[in-house]
Amino acid sequence: MTDQYAVIGNPIGFSKSPFIHSSFAAATDQDIDYTKIEGPLGQFAETVDAFRASGGLGLNITAPFKLDAYAYATEHSERAKLAGAANAMKFEGEHVIAENFDGVGLVRDVTHNLQVALKGKHVLMLGAGGAARGALLPFLAEEPALLVIANRTRYKADELAQIGAAKGRVQACHYLDLAGQRFDVVFNATSASLRAELPPVPAEVFAEACLAYELAYGKGLTPFLRLAQNAGAPQLADGVGMLAEQAAEAFAWWRGVRPGTAIVIRALTVPLA
Ligand code: NDP
Repeated sequence: MTDQYAVIGNPIGFSKSPFIHSSFAAATDQDIDYTKIEGPLGQFAETVDAFRASGGLGLNITAPFKLDAYAYATEHSERAKLAGAANAMKFEGEHVIAENFDGVGLVRDVTHNLQVALKGKHVLMLGAGGAARGALLPFLAEEPALLVIANRTRYKADELAQIGAAKGRVQACHYLDLAGQRFDVVFNATSASLRAELPPVPAEVFAEACLAYELAYGKGLTPFLRLAQNAGAPQLADGVGMLAEQAAEAFAWWRGVRPGTAIVIRALTVPLA
């Protein structure tokens, strides 16, 4: 029987994961079937039980089920533990292993695809939600000179800074504290762009050669990217590469072969201009 995988979310109609994983499977000669599941709210465990009973071997998890997936799993990677959330699961008999590839996918997109090193840089992360938590350890592993985390709800940024303190120089702050500070790389890890909103970040944070990176994807020039462009940031990116890279990590984890991502990134890229 063909090995079964799927992405689960609600809503799920928009998901690019079936396209991405089918492309990976074709490119690597893997015989898999990858579908999407619109999980009824409040019935995550029942839906996943049914998928496993029908032979499912692994799932990608998207909103709003990343915390449910973490709770469902019997084993958790360090990255999943830190994020308190899973974006991929693997089923091995009774064992359910939770992973979180969002952060490594983001770092790989920045360092490998965009060719921007984080080592020795001043990095600003806006937001302290699930995606920011997942990115914390992968960011610090790159040894930035300083990672500043700004969040509307300050205590969440403080929590992340505390967790990261053992691994590098991390500071938490309010948006207001950013006045007069400049950064080499600025990540928008808030969900503001999903509602065409702008986090209250001052335009002067973008240093001369700054990379402004919007984690949301497929939205074109978001208010954050427009602010960065108007402030003179020469390099803008959205999260399409992160999406492809986290998918490639999950595929490699499941199948033991890591696919290239260039073709799917090209196919899914929406112009930022
Ligand atoms: P969460 O809901 O976990 O966190 C949302 C964060 O955004 C919080 O820090 C919240 O602050 C902040 N926020 C929301 N609205 C505003 C606003 N108007 N002004 C300032 N801050 C705001 O979301 P995720 O971490 O899961 O997702 C964050 C972004 O990352 C989304 O755009 C999502 O699409 C993207 N993403 C992209 C992926 C990819 O593969 N490219 C993968 C995963 C996520 P507070 O704590 O104060 O509420």
